[in-house]
Amino acid sequence: MKSKSNILLIYTGGTIGMIKDSETGSLENFNFNDLLEYIPELNLLDCNVSSKSFSKPIDSSNMKPSNWLEIGTIVEDNYESYDGFVILHGSDTMSYTASALSFMLENLSKPVIFTGSQLPIGDLRTDAKENLITSIQIASLIEKNQPVIQEVGVYFEYKLYRANRTTKINAEHFEAFDSPNYPPLIISGVNLFVNYDFLLKPKKNKKLVVHKIFEPNVLLVKLFPGINEKMINHILSTPNLKGVIFETYGSGNLTNEKWFLKALKIIIDKNIPVINVTQCVGGSVDMNIYSTNILYRNIGIISGKDITTEAAVTKLMLMLGQNISTNNFKTKFETSLVGEMK
Ligand code: ASP
Repeated sequence: MKSKSNILLIYTGGTIGMIKDSETGSLENFNFNDLLEYIPELNLLDCNVSSKSFSKPIDSSNMKPSNWLEIGTIVEDNYESYDGFVILHGSDTMSYTASALSFMLENLSKPVIFTGSQLPIGDLRTDAKENLITSIQIASLIEKNQPVIQEVGVYFEYKLYRANRTTKINAEHFEAFDSPNYPPLIISGVNLFVNYDFLLKPKKNKKLVVHKIFEPNVLLVKLFPGINEKMINHILSTPNLKGVIFETYGSGNLTNEKWFLKALKIIIDKNIPVINVTQCVGGSVDMNIYSTNILYRNIGIISGKDITTEAAVTKLMLMLGQNISTNNFKTKFETSLVGEMK
């Protein structure tokens, strides 16, 4: 008889682990050891659930690379003892952390599922229970002695997405996330519908490698009509700058004014990688269409293709933390590492 799956819940902070103080009405973190008190349904699950919590849970607006590292290290330290991991995280920057983890955990062959909620767990109308219970079920799905999910995912409001394809799209609706350029991996209805063809299949018998260096000195710049030379020169002269992402228009178009081209050429010539990501929610950068992007392709700007901004930021930080030569950087960034781009 197959023994029950062991799942580790890791609570980092966010609404999902909060209850309303009945006197003051303010939201406070509840003691995570009391989880069963709030979700007695966890007793009905056919798996063993243990939990760990950040010593000081944080609102995800305060997340930084050192916190990603903390989560990655917990997964690494417990990797052999558990069949799957469920990370409870605030929704605001969940796509950044989940994308970062997808790049950190090379050769991952177990499920690491991020979830959270729009309403606190103690709220009558909470979405926390369904999100948490189904995430645990997904993390414990086994077929032919293999975990069904062998990658980092985000589960929210009946859908499991590939983590590094997600973006938070709504601050109000329960359906807070979307994955505009990649289909859901699982849809939860009466049954769990698994989109087998779209799952990541890791290489067999490779050991987990956890990458731990993120270079934080990167900039994310969103273009807008009217952005001027002074502003661009000012931000691009940030001391110790190691990489820049431009959120550009449509299929990756940037203004072709001379001063802008010159400013970009100066930093690219200093071997600072410049990434082109579209500010459109869906679709892809294609630097072969308009003069407003062909020009930039010719000076060495890197195409982010259909990557999300969240995945681009974390991939850039991680790649800059590895000693990748300038010659290889563009090719490696433009290659999908863990299904984050086409
Ligand atoms: N501000 C909260 C956070 O991201 C919102 C949430 O929990 O969803 O931590």
